[in-house]
Amino acid sequence: MFLITCPVTRTDELVADRRIRSAVNHPAHIALHVECPCGAVHVYRTGRRREATVGRRPAVPVRPAPEPARA
Ligand SMILES: [Zn+2]
Repeated sequence: MFLITCPVTRTDELVADRRIRSAVNHPAHIALHVECPCGAVHVYRTGRRREATVGRRPAVPVRPAPEPARA
């Protein structure tokens, strides 16, 4: 299980590992395609590749920067 922030509903969603459709390795990160409870598939990046992230920003959790909620 892991926590994502849905870009559609702007809410935190707890999703199971089996909801990960695919994980694509890139030189600087890993792209996770996650099946969200909202029905869409979102892509999240992880910073697992330490050798590629040294000198940049440290590894970040799989959630975009929070934005203030709009009514
Ligand atoms: Zn979603």
